[in-house]
Amino acid sequence: MIETEQRTPDLQAILDEVYAALEPRRGEGKVADYIPQLARINPQHFGMAIVTVDGAVYTAGDAELPFSIQSISKVFTLTLALGKHGETLWNRVGREPSGSAFNSIVQLEHEGGKPRNPFINAGAITVSDLICAGHSPREVIGEILRFLRYLADDDDISIDPAVARSEAATGFRNAALANFMRAFDKLSSPVDNVLGVYFHHCAIAMSCVQLAKAGLFLANGGKQALTGRTVVSRERARRINALMLTCGHYDGSGDFAYHVGLPGKSGVGGGIMAVAPGRAALAVWSPGLNQNGNSLLGSVALEMIAQRTGWSVFGP
Ligand code: GLU
Repeated sequence: MIETEQRTPDLQAILDEVYAALEPRRGEGKVADYIPQLARINPQHFGMAIVTVDGAVYTAGDAELPFSIQSISKVFTLTLALGKHGETLWNRVGREPSGSAFNSIVQLEHEGGKPRNPFINAGAITVSDLICAGHSPREVIGEILRFLRYLADDDDISIDPAVARSEAATGFRNAALANFMRAFDKLSSPVDNVLGVYFHHCAIAMSCVQLAKAGLFLANGGKQALTGRTVVSRERARRINALMLTCGHYDGSGDFAYHVGLPGKSGVGGGIMAVAPGRAALAVWSPGLNQNGNSLLGSVALEMIAQRTGWSVFGP
């Protein structure tokens, strides 16, 4: 018989060990500089948090410091949009890895304005459009924020207004993607409203602890771990995890699956949220990015944690 029983890992000891091993490498990678607010971040930050399905919280480094979650927000807007539209959402967005840059317009043209997946920019803009239907941008942004505060059980989560303004002031490519989809008749709400919602959810600031708590329902069969309340069905949680695994790391999604073996979503702010189904949600933050735009140290940290805990979706 194959032995699948795993000993319970000492998570605090693992985080301490990984932190000590990587701490000298803080500052590696290239901080996102497409908006000044992100370029200004101290590249030395490094934080990690693990929250288990029984509610225990383990941390190391800058785990309580809020940072710009950027594209990690796309997991939560997708969850909201699936709640409103169900599986019909997939008429508007695909479920395949893109294999091209997260903001590629070439692929969008080639595929008639239907984005490859909900995590590339065009796909996330479509998801914002789906949440917008019939509501003002202010209402929708408020709803996204309330959803995150509810999931993380933390009312301190907020939007960084300077980042949101900067996203809007420099988001020419995102505006191009949105207008392009509008030209294909693929957006229902006014382009400016949709972009306003998109830029604001990218500008949400959260700490590793808040992110791991917010993502915990994905590790726990769709239920909030502490209250037992259902956020999404078990099946939907699995499917969101499947999308994170295949599409969550831009062009580096295959590499992340290979090295870490867990579903995860990264953002250009240097954060990554990952899910160990049945066990825990994890979040790491280090602003320096690798060549695919994923946190360099964060990816290494998650690989080390996965190795040490034995957590993987690919086998015991
Ligand atoms: N707000 C960013 C953009 O659309 C998101 C970047 C990211 O984290 O992928 O350019």
